[in-house]
Amino acid sequence: MLKQIKGLHHVTSLARDARENNAFFTNVLGLRRVKKTVNFDAPDVYHLYYGDEAGTPGTVMTYFPFPMAGRGRKGTGEVGRTTFAIPKGTSQAWLDRLATFEVAGVSTDTRFGDKRVLFDGPDGDGFALVERDDDRMPWTGNGVAEDIAIRGFHGVDIRLRDDAATCELLGFMGYEVADKTDDLTRMIVPGGNAANTIDLEAMPNAPRADQGAGSVHHIAFAVDNRARQLEVREALLDTGYQVTPVIDRDYFYAIYFRSPGGVLFEVATNEPGFDRDEDTANLGQNLKLPSQHEHLRSRLESTLEPLGD
Ligand code: ZN
Repeated sequence: MLKQIKGLHHVTSLARDARENNAFFTNVLGLRRVKKTVNFDAPDVYHLYYGDEAGTPGTVMTYFPFPMAGRGRKGTGEVGRTTFAIPKGTSQAWLDRLATFEVAGVSTDTRFGDKRVLFDGPDGDGFALVERDDDRMPWTGNGVAEDIAIRGFHGVDIRLRDDAATCELLGFMGYEVADKTDDLTRMIVPGGNAANTIDLEAMPNAPRADQGAGSVHHIAFAVDNRARQLEVREALLDTGYQVTPVIDRDYFYAIYFRSPGGVLFEVATNEPGFDRDEDTANLGQNLKLPSQHEHLRSRLESTLEPLGD
């Protein structure tokens, strides 16, 4: 069993409209935009990153906004909800805030003793705010008060027709079953960051999801550095997974592989981080391009939709 994985690093989803996406994550949820760059494989499209002040691994929600994207269809083989930690006793304040911004799909539930506020993102993305004890420092620069602000990810809920193989894989990756009901398995990675929880939801009769705007594209797991990443890569290859070579994403190094339930998994390094090419004080303001796409700057600056801030 692996010991290198420390919880989530980031979650990456698809959106339709960049401006709407930016407004939702910064104004409504109060996260900080920590990087404005492009999809390295499709540089005509933004890659927007939202998180805490520094974009600490375990806080970073990222988006590829494709202006022509159709909406995804929910189902199995995908992340059904991405969940963020909020302080205990703040659900009502968030219900009020989400109502003020006319956020869709709002409801509440309780899961394994945690109160949750469920809501939809701009493209129908599934989200929840989960009341947790969490000592991470929130970003408050966008006007959400410190006593209620989002602390970072709690985790993700993965929907599967059959959860057995994914449960086994996560066990190999260092996660342990922490709680269980008939159709729900909570897995937590011990010694990880605070984004340490994955809930597997077994939905044997549900249709498979179709990816589109509002869908999670992949989830990334955090490792400390490149040496730990290579250990994970070797172990996954030895177990029979097809894993990509290490890819330089400028702010972290990435490897990818497909999990048995269909969700694309990434393992990303905590180094070098988002202050690699701009000061922490100014993160996310200027368009940052990877060196291979720097020659496209003047075209991209005129074609990418202004974010409105
Ligand atoms: Zn990623």
